[in-house]
Amino acid sequence: MGIFINFCAGTDERILPAAHVDALLVNPLQHVINEVALAYTQRMIAKAGATYVMMDSSGFQIHTIENNGGVIGFDPYKPMMCRQPLEINLSPYHIVDAAVKLRPTVMVALDWPIRKLDGSFERNNEFMKKFGYNIKWIQETADLRARLCPDVLLFLPLQFYNLEQLRFYEVYLDGLNHDGLSIPTRNLDASGIIFLLMKFHSMGVTRVHLLGVNTLRAIAIACYFARNYFDWCSLDACNWRLSAQFGDYLDQNTLKRKVFDPNKNFSFSSICGCPWCYYRTYFDYLNSSKTEQTYFLRCHNYFVITKAGEDCWEHSASARDLGRCLIARAGTNDKSINQLIQSLNMIEIWRGGNINVLKDLLNAKL
Ligand SMILES: [Zn+2]
Repeated sequence: MGIFINFCAGTDERILPAAHVDALLVNPLQHVINEVALAYTQRMIAKAGATYVMMDSSGFQIHTIENNGGVIGFDPYKPMMCRQPLEINLSPYHIVDAAVKLRPTVMVALDWPIRKLDGSFERNNEFMKKFGYNIKWIQETADLRARLCPDVLLFLPLQFYNLEQLRFYEVYLDGLNHDGLSIPTRNLDASGIIFLLMKFHSMGVTRVHLLGVNTLRAIAIACYFARNYFDWCSLDACNWRLSAQFGDYLDQNTLKRKVFDPNKNFSFSSICGCPWCYYRTYFDYLNSSKTEQTYFLRCHNYFVITKAGEDCWEHSASARDLGRCLIARAGTNDKSINQLIQSLNMIEIWRGGNINVLKDLLNAKL
């Protein structure tokens, strides 16, 4: 049995959503860009009492600058820099230097994310353009990490659209010194994510991080794989904060946005068991300031996401038990949850063997 970790992303010392936040996700450009930011980040980690700190590689910022048509530099001899929305300089050296200073639990190698594209020609073209950079940076980050901070775990980010492209990574990963993989899952449905995780398991991978997702579905998948297949399965997201920023209250069971009638009062304690909902009515909430509303929503949202993780973990020893837990939370009409339960049952029926047979059984589109 491994560990499941739900990293809290997008926070800072002022808006920590709980007195104790066990896992924090930071990135070099925001949190280690200079001595002041570094000291601030170290204070935040101490205040949160965090056991796990993951340092992402700021690939998202490169992605944003690229979409804005900005200048992207990868010069290790110039300072690490990001002037939103149009200029960035970042290299494997900067990432490892930031890890040496911050000493996170785990760092992610520098990557250039592939964009969300539809056509197969466009996707292939995008993969080909980024693959050379990504492989070179993975190798450079691994070499520097081994020399400068071997005690920090290293996860490699893989940017691919399909299995054919994953095969190229497989060739390069063989013999490369690393501790796990980090993968984006935004283009995949439940069967795709589950197949990919089984594929990684068949490749001997023992730690996996799912990037930027925090849905009930993703939490359930990560818990199940942490309990049954990997030493570590984690995810991260900042939806607890972004939802609050947009005034969204997340349902304690489904983690989806809940809509209320502004003319009807009720007690939040009737729909949620969290400490922030305990004494509050909806009209109390509507009459409070925007700052107070956002604070309340951040704390509530974070609490219910964390609770969902604990709940799924407790029930993820078997697909059947996890399925019962998910139906109790989401009902029987949620298509993505139903697909997830079906896919988990399928891998328990499959029980090893040819991975391509599993792909067909799951009907995974990869
Ligand atoms: Zn609540």
